[in-house]
Amino acid sequence: MMSIQDKPQDSSPEHNSSPTQWEARLHALIEHSHEVSLLLDDQGTILYASPALTHVLGYLPEEVSGQTMLSWVHPLDQSEASESLASLQAHTRQELFMTQRYRHKDGSWRWLELRAVNKLADLQVAALICSLRDITALKEAEIEQQRLVEESDLAHTHLLTVLQQMPAGVMIAEAPSGKLLFSNDQVRQIWRHSSPEANEVDKYDRYEGFHSGGTPYAGHEWPLARSIRQGESVREEEITFLRGDGTRGIMSVSSAPILNTQSEIIAGVVVFIDISERKRLEQLKDNFISMVSHELKTPVTSIKGYTQLLQKHFQRSDEKQSLHFLAKMNYQLDKLTDLINEILSISQLDLGMLNLRPQVFDLVKAVGEELESQQATTATHKLQLKGVEKLTITGDRERIGQVIHHLVSNAIKYSPGRKQVCIEICYSDQAALIHIQDYGIGIDSEHFSRIFERFYRVDEPLEQTFPGLGIGLYLAHEIIQRHQGHIWVESQKGQGSTFSFSLPLQPHTTIAKETSHDNH
Ligand code: ADP
Repeated sequence: MMSIQDKPQDSSPEHNSSPTQWEARLHALIEHSHEVSLLLDDQGTILYASPALTHVLGYLPEEVSGQTMLSWVHPLDQSEASESLASLQAHTRQELFMTQRYRHKDGSWRWLELRAVNKLADLQVAALICSLRDITALKEAEIEQQRLVEESDLAHTHLLTVLQQMPAGVMIAEAPSGKLLFSNDQVRQIWRHSSPEANEVDKYDRYEGFHSGGTPYAGHEWPLARSIRQGESVREEEITFLRGDGTRGIMSVSSAPILNTQSEIIAGVVVFIDISERKRLEQLKDNFISMVSHELKTPVTSIKGYTQLLQKHFQRSDEKQSLHFLAKMNYQLDKLTDLINEILSISQLDLGMLNLRPQVFDLVKAVGEELESQQATTATHKLQLKGVEKLTITGDRERIGQVIHHLVSNAIKYSPGRKQVCIEICYSDQAALIHIQDYGIGIDSEHFSRIFERFYRVDEPLEQTFPGLGIGLYLAHEIIQRHQGHIWVESQKGQGSTFSFSLPLQPHTTIAKETSHDNH
């Protein structure tokens, strides 16, 4: 091992110190440094290692003396390390600076930074002087940071690919300005514009869209504008729009605000699809259903007419069995007529053709007539009407009759084995009230909120199945709503149901006192 003896010639504070003291100081400096100091001979063999080696790589200085430093270097870094050291030894370079992985005595790998100078030619020194600094923590943080950057780049690329490949137009705009940050190719395809871009909310009226009444969308009315300005989430708003080529289409638009961690709106995203073709097909289907149910109505009415003729004929000849069969036939024909009427009404609703023909009429009389004809078709139930004797309202007599017909049919259908259905007509301050009560299977309250939806049917696997399409209550709801009325249900499973609806009363309505009678 070599010792450090030389003292600087002129450095001022130290020039009074003795050579021994100077040597001790330099020695202490090296012995207590966190960096490893190494002296190598011209073959790269270790002549001296400072005690920091134990802290950095786990070896005691005395156990590495005579070894070569390269034996600790990671196989992947070997060739670079040995080439660099060789070039330093061969004086092709004066200084060396490199970062490599070194094996710790415990087998783990450490990142070390090596600095080396060639002092072989200096006869006093005659060694390669190296220092090793442990930068593992730094390097690992750098690697982790790099990994995170790559991960985030990858996520960004994934997101962009998804947004580009989505079969929908996607636009992202900055808040609150409305400046466009991203739009995919579908946007241009749907609008048939080369660049349908507007960079301020107030200029969004450049996109030509129309409300269902035909009035154009103002800039701030577009879903994206509402999301970035008011934080509104818009779901599937249908907007008629004018394409770049002058044709019109219908798009379904959804949008949402994008919030930062402080819940501030920083941007908005809008997704839209062209539903023109779907709408066209729906219209065709509705037209078709409407036409078919119309076409079915005529022969069914005619068959019904003939059964009535036959009934009269058999009544004269008193043919009981034929009359019995005819009654059954009539019953089925009535059911068929109900079905056709329901389907027809639904298609009229869809085509926007369910128009009301309001007139002033006596609700009690209309309900009485309806119950009379329904009573004739049921031998199992007794329909009992109670309440006021006269109550005039303004509304579509036929449509309200249809609602009553359906609610009473349901009351009968869903109360097998029971005898009574009670219909009550009463009034409150501003409304006529009709309650239809049965004592049948009842409905669990969890279904109340959905029972008036189109096609909704209570599906209880253990229960008897009842035939039906699930459109009658939806239709009743639509008709009552168009009369500015309300419809609701009160029921308990197994305890029967009461369906009620209200209709607004005119200021000078005629009301006669209460009564009670049945239609049996
Ligand atoms: P459906 O043709 O199925 O009768 P509706 O629209 O008239 O269609 O009724 C929807 C569902 O509401 C029915 O499937 C039934 O489950 C339930 N429902 C309607 N009326 C009654 C009632 N009076 N009692 C029990 N359940 C009823």
